[in-house]
Amino acid sequence: MNPLTTRYAAGRADLDELLAGQPRYRLDQVWAGLYEQLATPAELTNLPKAVRAALDEQLPLALAPVTESTSDGGETVKWLWALADGTEVETVLMHYDNRSTVCVSSQAGCAMGCTFCATGQAGFDRHLTTGEIVEQVVRAARRARDDGQRLSNVVYMGMGEPLANYDPTWASVERLHADLGLSARHLTVSTVGIVPGIRRLATEALPVNLAVSLHAADDGLRDELVPINRRYPLSTLMDACAGYLQAKNRRVSLEWALIDGVNDRDVDARQLVERARTLPLPAHVNLIPLNPTPGYAVRGTPPRRVREFRDLLREGGVNATIRRTRGTEIDAACGQLRANHAIARPVPQPVRRRGSKAIT
Ligand code: SAH
Ligand code: SF4
Repeated sequence: MNPLTTRYAAGRADLDELLAGQPRYRLDQVWAGLYEQLATPAELTNLPKAVRAALDEQLPLALAPVTESTSDGGETVKWLWALADGTEVETVLMHYDNRSTVCVSSQAGCAMGCTFCATGQAGFDRHLTTGEIVEQVVRAARRARDDGQRLSNVVYMGMGEPLANYDPTWASVERLHADLGLSARHLTVSTVGIVPGIRRLATEALPVNLAVSLHAADDGLRDELVPINRRYPLSTLMDACAGYLQAKNRRVSLEWALIDGVNDRDVDARQLVERARTLPLPAHVNLIPLNPTPGYAVRGTPPRRVREFRDLLREGGVNATIRRTRGTEIDAACGQLRANHAIARPVPQPVRRRGSKAIT
């Protein structure tokens, strides 16, 4: 029989159809197995063998691992997945003290063309479906559990621009909340500044966190770094952020990749303080020293200047923190995801899981 749909694209109605003829309680059993126990059909030994086989056959996974790489002593895991049509995307899992965060892709590639971003440099392949986004989270959650961690946070900061793929992205948010039980406050949608998307997000019921990749507080400079700024300039963007704040009463975070000599000058800090102050609630600025990418020759700001820049923002009354970079050596850090366009693919390494022996 042909597959019905993919495993995490299937809704309750699809499963109901697949389980026709089974007792009523089967549906809840299967649903709990997939989303609470994060199990594969084969592991659901409370089901009859024939049901397990039917689930396996008719609800295949959407993501096939191509490589899995780890860094930071096993605390960061990156997967390169092949989708059914051969397109490739990446997902990054980061373990912290008592929780884990997964960074998911919303598109294969990206059409926004930000100059300093490896995904942007490689161009756009296609939108991801809701099931493909949800499956990235489920598989990372399962891995986190195997590593003795609990997946609590999801950030839409992998490949692609989530608000340029609005409907599947939002449907995935709703499913992570409803089916995986993740709190909206632990879900963060990051956007380059698609203003209609931000306005639409403000009308949704779930109060997710909004992160806006600003990188420049002057239109001239932002036009160069983030070409979509020509369509949605800073005044419109900040206005949409203010609207989101008002609707949700949630802090918006502003992302700033610090680029040596480009956007780390005193004048940049001054302009950022001015922009941040136009918001009705204090914004939070996340400073990320630029990670190296193949297509952008400029370097990240040196650590000392990063701290100075943070202090300039703080002196101006703006909350700012420096984000610790994860997974640079496996090209898993912000802006480094590139999938099949990668010039050098990470070599798969033995994976050492906490409290267990190394596996290959
Ligand atoms: N398209 C969305 C989400 C994915 S990018 C967006 O742009 O917000 C996730 C974050 O990484 C964004 O803040 C992006 O600007 C940042 N980023 C991109 N390239 C980077 C690089 N080379 N170094 C550091 N951060 C980078
Ligand atoms: Fe796309 Fe975000 Fe990269 Fe810009 S920074 S090219 S919007 S993924």
